[in-house]
Amino acid sequence: MLLIKYNRAQFELLIWSGLFLVVFGLALRFNGHEALDHFFQSHEQYDLDEVFTAISIAGALGLVYSLIRMKDLAREIERRIAAEKNVDWIACHDPLTNLPNRRMFGALSARPAPGAVIDQYAVFSIDLDGFKKINDLLGHAHGDEALKIVAERLSAIFPGNDVYRVGGDEFAVVIKIQGDQDLVAVARHIVEIVSKPIVTNGATVDMGASVGLALYPEDSDEFKTALQYADCAMYAAKKAGRNNVRTFASSMQQDLVARVQMEAALKKALNDGRIRPHYQPLVDLKTQEIVGFEALARWETESGAFVSPSDFIPVAEEAGLIIPITDYLFETACRDALSWPSHITLSFNISPVQLSDRLLGLRLLDVMREVGLSPHRVELEVTESALIQDTETAREVLSGLTAAGIKIALDDFGTGFSSLSQLSNYQFDKIKIDKSFVATFETNEKQEKLVRAIISLGTGLSVKITAEGIEKQTQLQRLRELGCDIGQGYLFGRPAPIDQVTEIIRRRPAASAFSRTEPDDAPRHGGLNQVAPWWQPAQASVPFLAKQG
Ligand code: C2E
Ligand code: CA
Ligand code: CA
Repeated sequence: MLLIKYNRAQFELLIWSGLFLVVFGLALRFNGHEALDHFFQSHEQYDLDEVFTAISIAGALGLVYSLIRMKDLAREIERRIAAEKNVDWIACHDPLTNLPNRRMFGALSARPAPGAVIDQYAVFSIDLDGFKKINDLLGHAHGDEALKIVAERLSAIFPGNDVYRVGGDEFAVVIKIQGDQDLVAVARHIVEIVSKPIVTNGATVDMGASVGLALYPEDSDEFKTALQYADCAMYAAKKAGRNNVRTFASSMQQDLVARVQMEAALKKALNDGRIRPHYQPLVDLKTQEIVGFEALARWETESGAFVSPSDFIPVAEEAGLIIPITDYLFETACRDALSWPSHITLSFNISPVQLSDRLLGLRLLDVMREVGLSPHRVELEVTESALIQDTETAREVLSGLTAAGIKIALDDFGTGFSSLSQLSNYQFDKIKIDKSFVATFETNEKQEKLVRAIISLGTGLSVKITAEGIEKQTQLQRLRELGCDIGQGYLFGRPAPIDQVTEIIRRRPAASAFSRTEPDDAPRHGGLNQVAPWWQPAQASVPFLAKQG
């Protein structure tokens, strides 16, 4: 644009100069000066010669002034052209690593002339494993430094413009295939160089890489689509664990399509009210009373099958549906809990991504106020991963909720990598020992020691301990001996819909499920290892539970 203006200014200068030369030539040809002179002398009374002199001086000065302005303008224009070029560069490059970005990748084209031989290219999609951990635990300065080092390492093996930074911790590489080059070996080489230890600001960090590979034009005759396919392959590699390499196959695309379809179905299910909470009892291991219910999301499809929350919650998170789903589930659960005796609490799971939402607390409190459920009856379960994603916001959100009287439980304790540091960072009301410990602690001495240690940690910190996944009498008995406070698991009851829960509570009005008000047909409890199977909801009437096993 500026260039056009500059050219036009030059063009106009040329026109005016030409005009000047023509007029000047004509004046010479027809002795214009003498004619003027003669005219001035014959009209001396008008002082025309003075006027002419003034005009000539003004003209000469104007010319000098214009030349100076032209020079300034030229300089200004040059500066602006450089700035525009810089803006173009910034728009197509990542300023941190100086690598071309996704936009630049989108402009990639290698369409050959008709009839020409088509070159074969390989497109690699590279996603760093463990980058988030560096960012969260060591800070963004270390994260930035690590990205720069990875960019340098990739640029060193693929010199030229072949390396792109296409996302936060995602890179892409495009190479022209040479003969029968072993592309999987190239991908492995990428993994190898990325996963070498990185020293950033004095700290040594380890990262890995998941690499997906797709071919141009074999998989797609558009680079953009080939990169999408390489992304599909990269997700498949990531699924298989750290530092893996996968080549694109059409089945991977089907997975992607299935995911997109699931998102659409999930949206519809939410609108149709097909996502509802089921409830699983939490039992005081000393008194054997039901002290609460954990709400567990269930999606009932139109065919009557149930989709597990482990399958649809991650999709909801990615599709941005987790907020409306949580709002709906939480409101439903609060209304259901209102009909329970007042000492029975409602436990509700909060997705990790939601703890970086500063408005979460306000929304939850609004729902409780509207429904009329006291915040003291609500416990929110958060996992460790939720706490390390945006530590500051998570702390703010949690302290707001705690101040309002809501209790916070640390879920799946022992499965993350920073369990102990979380305990020192936040004040939790409860710790839930992950079911993987409960499943193995009877036969695995190390696991037993860990369970024992977690329970004494709870005693030391005055935090109640819940054991999840209790399926056997022997597990229950051992956990009680170790002093565990609360139990949850199929042994006590599977997650059940609200009508069954209401029935359970109706039959045990004092919520003393095992010891005080058993019905006549219920077995008597003779000792610790006697749990009342009579209050378990009939499995056949809860279709999902039969599937869950
Ligand atoms: P979680 O919070 O750890 O929930 C406990 C899971 O263990 C539930 O799986 C429950 O059905 C299962 N379980 C309970 N007792 C036993 C047992 O004795 N043995 C075995 N093997 N499993 C048992 P579910 O319902 O499939 O939920 C899976 C996960 O999905 C939950 O794990 C939770 O993290 C998440 N989730 C469930 N509902 C919600 C929700 O409303 N919002 C969010 N954000 N996440 C949810
Ligand atoms: Ca939970
Ligand atoms: Ca759990």
